[in-house]
Amino acid sequence: MVHDLYQEIILDHSKRPRNCHSMDDATRQADGYNPLCGDKLKLYLKMEDDIVKDVSFVGSGCAISKASASMMTQALKGKRTEEAEGLFEEFHSIVTGKRAANTQVLGKLAVFSGVSEFPVRVKCATLAWHALHAALHGQEQPVSTE
Ligand code: ZN
Repeated sequence: MVHDLYQEIILDHSKRPRNCHSMDDATRQADGYNPLCGDKLKLYLKMEDDIVKDVSFVGSGCAISKASASMMTQALKGKRTEEAEGLFEEFHSIVTGKRAANTQVLGKLAVFSGVSEFPVRVKCATLAWHALHAALHGQEQPVSTE
């Protein structure tokens, strides 16, 4: 089966990214950079009692990196740290082709399974997630996908 990398939902999120703004009252933030493609982003998290109360990002990059960041922020609100990490693991396994998408866990994020057929795009798709991981762990150093 041939997946279309640029499915409608991915195009829509890349053109009109959701939660794409800075956050003054963020409790955590992290920077991510994908030198392979030039994607850059800053992720903002507002944590409250181990729950993602709010999440946003700013950045520039290709359609895949923007759509992934946008859809990630939508999926994260209300999640506990552990659930957010679980989602990252699940997402990482589908974009690297290790597992078929579990749509019950991933919801709309399952469309990114098409990325597994384009290895060069994997880092674009996971950039925001690596920044999320760094932010959740209070990592100060910018994360690079390289
Ligand atoms: Zn990219």
